[in-house]
Amino acid sequence: MKERIAIFPGSFDPYTKGHEDIVRRGLKIFDKIIIAIGYNVHKRQRYFDVDMMVEKIRHLHKDDPRIGVEVYNELTATFAVKHQARYLLRGLRNTTDFEYENTIAQVNMHLGNDLETVFLITSPKYAHISSSVIREVHQYGGDIANLVPFEID
Ligand code: ADP
Repeated sequence: MKERIAIFPGSFDPYTKGHEDIVRRGLKIFDKIIIAIGYNVHKRQRYFDVDMMVEKIRHLHKDDPRIGVEVYNELTATFAVKHQARYLLRGLRNTTDFEYENTIAQVNMHLGNDLETVFLITSPKYAHISSSVIREVHQYGGDIANLVPFEID
């Protein structure tokens, strides 16, 4: 049978315990998941360094060969086709996520040759976690250890 490869696209600025949960649960459905960090070198609009984030995520998942980590700077659909991925994996926390995801899933289906987006509802214990809140807490010196699955200085 053909391998089921999914791309988990996002900014991952930073990668959170919520993201990690989606990946681990996604592996019950897919044979392989590529965590794909969308990043434009020229825009550089990130809070956490992208290379540092790649290294931390790779290290976190180093014992599981089914998980890959890549940075990309192109359409998600194009990246997926290049990697023979027929699925996108996304997490859903609330209706705000839904409104946004609904539109991009349809665009990706159109652009990516029937690329299917598969949504996992967030585990309640991680539903409050968002990268934007973590950035804010970190910026003002707050403790983010319980929100991120690795240490960040
Ligand atoms: P983007 O910049 O595309 O919104 P993010 O890096 O913020 O990407 O998130 C990537 C994916 O992970 C999105 O589908 C988002 O809804 C999902 N996600 C973010 N936080 C959580 C969480 N706490 N639980 C489950 N899914 C989440």
